[in-house]
Order: sequence, then structure tokens, then C-alpha cells
Amino acid sequence: MAETTQKAAPAKAAAKPPAKKATAESKLAKLGLRSDMDLVLHLPMRYEDETQVVDIREACLRGGHVSQVEGVVTKNEIAYKPRRQLLVQIADETGELQLRFMNFYGSQVKQLAEGTRVRARGELKHGFFGAEMVHPAYKIINEGAPLPTSLTPVYPSGEGLSQLVLRRAIADAMRRVDWRDTVPAEVIERMRLSNFEPAVKLLHYPPQQVDENALADRSHPAWTRMKFDELLAQQLSLKRAQRARRSKGAAALKKVGTLSAAFQAALPFKLTKAQQRVLTEIRADLRQAYPMQRLLQGDVGSGKTVVAALAAAQAIDSGFQAALMAPTEILADQHFRKIAAWMEPLGVKVAWLTGSLKKKEKAAATALVESGEAQLVIGTHALIQDTVQFSKLGLVIVDEQHRFGVGQRLTLRNKGQGDLVPHQLMMSATPIPRTLAMTYYADLEVSVIDELPPGRTPIVTRAVDQNRRDEVIERVHAAALEGRQAYWVCPLIEESEALQLQTATETYETLAAALPDLRVGLVHGRLKPAEKQEVMDAFAAGEVHVLVATTVIEVGVDVPNASLMVIEHAERFGLSQLHQLRGRVGRGSAASVCLLLYQSPLGHVAKQRLMTMRETTDGFEIARRDLEIRGPGEFLGARQSGQAMLRFADLETDGWLVDQARDVAHALLQEPQHQSTVDAHLERWLGGREEFLKV
Ligand code: ADP
Ligand code: MG
Repeated sequence: MAETTQKAAPAKAAAKPPAKKATAESKLAKLGLRSDMDLVLHLPMRYEDETQVVDIREACLRGGHVSQVEGVVTKNEIAYKPRRQLLVQIADETGELQLRFMNFYGSQVKQLAEGTRVRARGELKHGFFGAEMVHPAYKIINEGAPLPTSLTPVYPSGEGLSQLVLRRAIADAMRRVDWRDTVPAEVIERMRLSNFEPAVKLLHYPPQQVDENALADRSHPAWTRMKFDELLAQQLSLKRAQRARRSKGAAALKKVGTLSAAFQAALPFKLTKAQQRVLTEIRADLRQAYPMQRLLQGDVGSGKTVVAALAAAQAIDSGFQAALMAPTEILADQHFRKIAAWMEPLGVKVAWLTGSLKKKEKAAATALVESGEAQLVIGTHALIQDTVQFSKLGLVIVDEQHRFGVGQRLTLRNKGQGDLVPHQLMMSATPIPRTLAMTYYADLEVSVIDELPPGRTPIVTRAVDQNRRDEVIERVHAAALEGRQAYWVCPLIEESEALQLQTATETYETLAAALPDLRVGLVHGRLKPAEKQEVMDAFAAGEVHVLVATTVIEVGVDVPNASLMVIEHAERFGLSQLHQLRGRVGRGSAASVCLLLYQSPLGHVAKQRLMTMRETTDGFEIARRDLEIRGPGEFLGARQSGQAMLRFADLETDGWLVDQARDVAHALLQEPQHQSTVDAHLERWLGGREEFLKV
């Protein structure tokens, strides 16, 4: 019956309210607030205390503080000097106060008519016209209206979404949501955690006498509960993904045979102890019939490539293919040359596959991969295109893995045969601090090369004011005359690639003019791959003395004779980028120098960065400080975390909770009777976002 009445209602009237609701909904959705639980877990960033009203006289005496007063409007006028503004006078028994609005609506003028009772909250100032509040928050009330008994939440909000709308949406959701606790009672008791419902309610509506400092620095037990729940969800999800992966099959690459032996024997150097150790770890993983997922971390220049090649050799020895994917053409090319030079004499067919190949060449390479004739394939993300079918892919190696998106890595992993998933070895010179590794990569095994090959001389790093550029050019000149080579890295201009290109060209021209007796080269992202290659080859062969470059040389480039690195406007680069760039030198036996040219005055963060660069060359230490300077969210960036997955926990201060969450997650997954609790917990905290954790 009721339905019929609704349908019969005039279309216009019926259409209006839902339209309004839809916009609020879409604004909420923009903040990621879709379900009731999303809203409930949208916690305040701070609070306003509207629980007390003070007399106007007392507020005036206090001055300079935010206070809430209540009074009746005695005067309401629009003044035009010095500009149009609304002046509203209110009074209580103790005194008078002016509310001043510079921007206001006509409706406000009417709303604040004489005789209206108002509660106003704002900072009290003593202006030219006496005591006043400029743009106070205010409410029209009836006499005797009760004061709130809890603090008023202020939520993180988005454009066009008022606190009022958010507060109402959240309060409504709180009434509908299922409050059941998703952490078993014995865990709550053992860890002395707050219960879920009271903790959430306290955070939204803290009672007047709450310890506000503990709320502000998130050390309040209610916050601890939120952080623990969040970390637990993450650990549960990661561990489940790990189990799912283990339940999948992979080809067991059992044979470390003649190729591996011959290759290792042919190397012009002995593996370092650290390389040997990680190789042992990788070899053991590859023998398993479930897919390896291992991150090989090692500082810039620690020798990851040869370890990767030895892993590939095991795959080939076992009758499977291996693929190596690198993020840039320069890097892929360098791997190809180096590894092909090592392997082809031993009878291995290595294919080369990048986006810049001509159609015919690409087709030929693809055919080699498909037929299985190519045992090793090296290339860029061209490797993961649909047209590329592997005959028997056993191992996937991803260099500089942090440069790839989650989706790209996933695609390559799906290139195995039938239900078999290839083993995966990811390499990165951007070390991930322990707490991060544990939370974001709980699903990965991690191997670390913590030792550089012998014979490297430490790099001396100096920060030099940009106005001493001429001296630096002279220094490059002197070094070149001694037979050393230099990189000259152009300033990063993030806003505009065109401008960056222009700067690179100009730098090249000034250097070429200033150093007429030297050969200066230029390499940047806009060159065609073949042109890039030509320059890099000339530099590698020692024919070019100074290589002017943009950050295209940031990763992987390996020219051991280069021993001088100049980075212009070093203050514009991030720490890990500076570390990567600097890692291009210090690869040979000559003492290397890195000069960081900066433009003064330096900001605080830039100063800290340059200081860090001067103080240490240890990539792990640099990563740790980077984390300190930038915080984990930015450190990882969206590309690594899929989404900023931790909203509440702070890995720096809540490391102890990570450990606890991991142990509890482990225990819960052991016990089948906890299944539904685990499911409910994951649904509550991750909803649809779980996929990101599975890669
Ligand atoms: P990264 O870990 O930064 O990728 P590379 O694999 O490019 O480092 O290795 C850096 C350089 O060190 C290369 O020239 C490589 O051939 C050389 N190298 C690797 N391992 C050793 C070793 N055990 N002894 C001497 N040189 C090595
Ligand atoms: Mg490398």
C-alpha cells in the first residue's frame, strides 16, 4: 500500500531528495566511504569542545582563546567600511560581544535577526570596536538547549563535504552497523585491548574528561585497539595470500647442472660470501614445487645481476625458460649484453625483446620465445604483452622491482603453463626497512646481499654551492685529463619534461663549450633507443669523457671507469634517487667522488638529505633516514603499497604492535574454528581492497 502511494506522488517532488542524497554519497565515496563500516572507521582527526559555555565577560577576560558563548542578538547590521561585512551584536547578562562575518549569505542575515538566541564558538579578540569573534562557528538555539556531553568530532573531509553531513552520515552508520567483535575474547584479554564497540564510540564521541593528549598523539587505548585491528587484518591477509600461493604448483627446478657450473667457472671473479649465501637460498627455493616469491635486496653495486643469472642458469639446466624484465631500455640492454656475453659462449640462446624493436624483429623474438628455442629472454615490459607466449617459463626475474606496478608483475607471473606459476625473483637496490618489509612484504621471502665486491674504494661525497660551478667544471677537466670519466646529472624539473630537456641540452652546450678539449656526450629520455645506446656505448668504451644525463641513468647503469659524479640542483632530488645516482660511480678501483651542487638557501628537508648523503653511503641507513624524513606512506608511494593501506598504525611508533599482530594472525589461521572470525575481521577492515596485498 505504502509503495503505491509513493509511486503516485508527483514525479518532481519524488526526484528531488534522492538526487541530493546521491551527491553526498558520491562525495563520501570519493573519500573511500562506501559501506557503513567504512563510515564508522572514518575516525576524527581532532575534536572541538562544545561541552561548555562561558559568560561573555569571562570570555572577554580570557581573550585570545577559543571559547563558546551564548547570547541573544541585540543588533544586526551590514557595514560597508572598510568592506561589506555583517556585524552581529550578542549579549548575555554579563556583557556584549560582536560577531563579525566578512563573507556571508543573505539567509544568514535573516537567521541572525535581533532577538535570536545564538551559541557561538571562536577565538575572542579585542579589536577596535571592542571584543569580537571573527567568523565564529555558531548555532541558533532555543533557551535552555542542552550542551553536548562529548567532544565534537572533526573528520578528515573532502571538497564540498561539510562536517555536518559527515557527522550525520557517520552517526547514522553507527546505528546500523554490526558491532560484533572480530578479535577473539582471549586475545583481547591477554593483550588487555579495549573492546571494539566502546573503543570506536569513544574515538567518535570522547567524553568531556577524556585525556585529550592521548587522543591527539594516538596513544589512547582506544587508538591502540584500532591500530591493532588494522595491523591484524593486514597480517591475516598477507598470510592467507602466502598460503594460497603455496597451494599453487610451480615447476620444481631441480637441476643445478653443467650450465650453472660452467657459468660460475667462467666468471672473472669469485662470488662474495653474501652472493654465495643468497644464491644458496634461491637455489633451495627453486627446487620446490610451489612458486618462490623472493625479494633480492642489495645495495647499489652489490652484484645482484650475476646472482640473477645464476638463478636463470638453474632454470635452464632444469629444462625451463627464464625471463628477465628491467624497467628501462638502457638497463635491459645492459643486462642483455652482459648476460649474453656470459651465456652464449656456453650454448644458451638469449632473446631480446623490447618495445623499440621493429615489427619483424619483434615477431622473430616472439617466435623464439614461443618455440622454446630461446632459453632466456631479456627485455622491458614488452615481455608482458599478450602476444608473448612462453613455451616453458619456469622463472621470472624482475630487476628494480619497485619501478613496476603491481599489475605488471602480476601479468608476468601469469605467463606460466596451465596451472603452474613461475618462480619469481625480484631485485631491488632500494632497501626496505624491517618494519616495512614485515608489513608490506610479509608474503615475500627476503634475501639480502650485505657486502660489496672487494676492491671498491669508498665514494667521497661533498655538497658544493651552485655558485662554485666553475670550480667544479675545472675539477671535471682535471679528472678527465687523468683518464677518468664523469657523469654530470642535470637538474630534475618535475613539472615539465620539455623544460627538463631544454635544461639538459643547455647544460650539455655550456659544458661542451667550457671543455673544448674533451668529448662531452648527452643522454636523455627523449632520444631514440638506438641513439641512447650509441652514447652509452661511447661512454662505456671511454670515448666520451663527460656524460651529461638526465635521470635516465639512475638505475643499473654500470660503467666501472666512471669515478666522478656531479649532480646539479641536488636539493631537488629525493634521497633514494641521490643514492641511486651516486651508485653509478665507485664501481672501479679508482677513488670516486660525488659532488652535490645545491642552490642556497636550502630548506630544512633538503639540508637533512644532503647531510645524510655526506655522512653515509650505506643504502640501508639511507633508506632508514628517508623513512624518518618522509614517513612510510610517501616512502613506499602508491606504486608499492597498491593503496596506502595503513590508515591508523604508524610503523615507526607502533612496531611492537606489528609483532603482536603477526603472532596473533599466525595463531588464528592455525585454528579452523576461528575461520569465520578471520573472515569477518578481513571484511571489516579491508573490504574489497584485499587484492592489492596478493601480488
Ligand atoms: P647491482 O647489485 O647494483 O645490480 P651489478 O650486478 O650491476 O650490481 O654489479 C656491479 C658490478 O660488480 C658489475 O660490474 C659486476 O660485474 C661486478 N661484480 C658482481 N659481483 C662481483 C664479485 N663477486 N666480485 C667482483 N665484481 C663483481
Ligand atoms: Mg642492477
